[in-house]
Amino acid sequence: MRIDLHTHSTASDGTDAPGELVRKAAAVGLDVVALTDHDTTRGHAEAIAALPEGLTLVTGAELSCRLDGISMHVLAYLFDAEEPALLAERELVRDDRVPRAQGMIAKLQELGVPVTWEQVARIAGDGSVGRPHVASALVELGVVPTVNDAFTQDWLADGGRAFMEKHETDPFEAIRLIKGAGGVAVFAHPGASKRGRTVPEAAIAEMAAAGLDGVEVDHMDHDAETRARLRGLAEELGLLVTGSSDYHGSRKTCVLGEYTTDPEVYGEITRRAFGAFPVPGAGGV
Ligand code: AMP
Ligand code: ZN
Ligand code: FE
Ligand code: FE
Repeated sequence: MRIDLHTHSTASDGTDAPGELVRKAAAVGLDVVALTDHDTTRGHAEAIAALPEGLTLVTGAELSCRLDGISMHVLAYLFDAEEPALLAERELVRDDRVPRAQGMIAKLQELGVPVTWEQVARIAGDGSVGRPHVASALVELGVVPTVNDAFTQDWLADGGRAFMEKHETDPFEAIRLIKGAGGVAVFAHPGASKRGRTVPEAAIAEMAAAGLDGVEVDHMDHDAETRARLRGLAEELGLLVTGSSDYHGSRKTCVLGEYTTDPEVYGEITRRAFGAFPVPGAGGV
């Protein structure tokens, strides 16, 4: 069984439409794929409609959080997408992405970059707008050669010249909301240090005590040493260990199914969740 529990579609900052993404997931031989767009579930319906036979979809989202000034992401799986408290919080974060992107565009214009909201809005389409869309605009304009190159202090990295914060949820509140909606909470790429400061282990222990279910260990942003350390911490704290590609289509270099999750861990996630069931593919359209 090959299980990839972290992917993005055009519902946020990935480049494959949800239907395209599940077809590719089946084509690369995955048995289970989770669709975890930033702060939104709007890609789920299309993914379910297109789901090929033999592929199971885990519905999810990646929630933008911040603890003591450190941005971090929490993956939420199999929660009830209609549950009002979590839904309201997702909408709050997602809606704040628009003025925030416009603010970053204003900063870029002050730096002499002729980027416009119209351009970024076109690139984002109906996806929840984020820095990768602004980065793609900078690539189109020839300011930087790749999306990755826009994530520097010169441009869009945390604290960079054109960076702006958005509303982000306290992770303890996010865990409470996810559990309240019947979902399972996994700390995404907790050791991704090249993105900025990371959350200390003591805080992960506090989150585990507050109901965090797992940590994502096998991820492209973690080196071997980081993975070993996180695996040890997970064992100590009784947390599940996941592995995932964090696929973003052509907007990132990672390949669908590049990292995967142990079937036993996946089984445990499905046992703990009661907000939604994994969706078995019925052949798709
Ligand atoms: P946002 O939620 O709009 O702040 O954008 C966050 C997204 O930007 C992440 O999910 C990544 O896809 C991407 N990102 C963040 N930091 C980096 C980085 N250092 N290099 C490449 N992509 C990054
Ligand atoms: Zn992303
Ligand atoms: Fe993330
Ligand atoms: Fe992600």
